[in-house]
Amino acid sequence: MRQAMRIHAIIVAAGAGLRAGGGVPKQYRAVAGQPLLRHAVKRLLGHPAITGVSVVINPECRALYDEAVAGLGLSEPIVGGATRQESVLAGLEALAADPPDIVLVHDAARAFVPDAVIDALVAAFDDDVDGACPALPQVDSLRRGEDGRFSGSVVRDSLWRVQTPQAFRTPAILAAHRAAASGATDEVAIALAAGLRVAITPGDERAFKVTEPADFAKAEAMTTYSSRAASGFDVHKFGPGDHVWLCGIKVPHDHGLIGHSDADAGLHALTDALLGTIAAGDIGDHFPPSDERWRGAASDQFLAHAATLVRERGGLIDHVDVTLICERPKVGPHRDAMRTRIAEILGLGIDRVSVKATTTEKLGFTGRQEGIAAQAMASVRLPEHSA
Ligand code: MG
Repeated sequence: MRQAMRIHAIIVAAGAGLRAGGGVPKQYRAVAGQPLLRHAVKRLLGHPAITGVSVVINPECRALYDEAVAGLGLSEPIVGGATRQESVLAGLEALAADPPDIVLVHDAARAFVPDAVIDALVAAFDDDVDGACPALPQVDSLRRGEDGRFSGSVVRDSLWRVQTPQAFRTPAILAAHRAAASGATDEVAIALAAGLRVAITPGDERAFKVTEPADFAKAEAMTTYSSRAASGFDVHKFGPGDHVWLCGIKVPHDHGLIGHSDADAGLHALTDALLGTIAAGDIGDHFPPSDERWRGAASDQFLAHAATLVRERGGLIDHVDVTLICERPKVGPHRDAMRTRIAEILGLGIDRVSVKATTTEKLGFTGRQEGIAAQAMASVRLPEHSA
């Protein structure tokens, strides 16, 4: 019976939600590199019982919406109304022509609802109910009070903190919504007013509603990260000149380095190491030597681009380490300036940036002073969802 049920989720994301800060409605603000709405959509799409997801939006936020759900294969969003209640009704009406058996109404701000909460909602329909809603028992004592003084007690035993998604048989909630007075705060209120039977199912603290600025920090803290480390290597050949660029610093020398860009082998090796942590190819893929734009280009922009790609994946750069391999010029006098420059480009503390140097005891091409080699390591943490 349950296998045959069509279960559709409506995510309500039409609110202005500026209270959380960040300059955009909160459902479009990033947590661990992805908009809150994208987390919410992926959670529901990823649940095996859910057969479809639609999102109700404010059409003024269409560009933010398109960016937030890019690549997730959603159908056209539904245009919401002035209130949450109107937006939910718009979402329900959009399903009316071909109603699913069960509809889940979910707030984008409760983006991190665990699968078990949805499992319990679906299981509730094995009993003869019209709907089900996750809720947590009220554990703190509740008191009435006015003007700074307590005036009475509230029996908390029968009080629940309700969450979303709230699940209903679609025809029942659609009829209840169409008949409802305005001012309802959620679907349970509308269902109860219509005399529907709504089961209480287990909620979860992780399904908390992201509302205040501190909630974003809480959501970030819930993110699970895995460590990645990758290496990079580069060589450039000496040619005529009176300086070389190494790790973003201009170092006087009796030769220059030959290359399409500024030939900064240190920054090139480090750029490749960072790209390696997200398996995003190599520096030549992103900045082809055939492209005239990069002729003589300063390599700090290559490194900054790699760091941006890591951060767009929600990544945190933990540490980078560059080893320059040459007989000359002497690196030691410039080491701290190099560390400072790399730290600036990457937006890291200098304690997370290491620059080392070695010779090859006059062996090989570096020993013969034909060129400079550099190798680098980068370690980052990536949120699990970016895998
Ligand atoms: Mg290079």
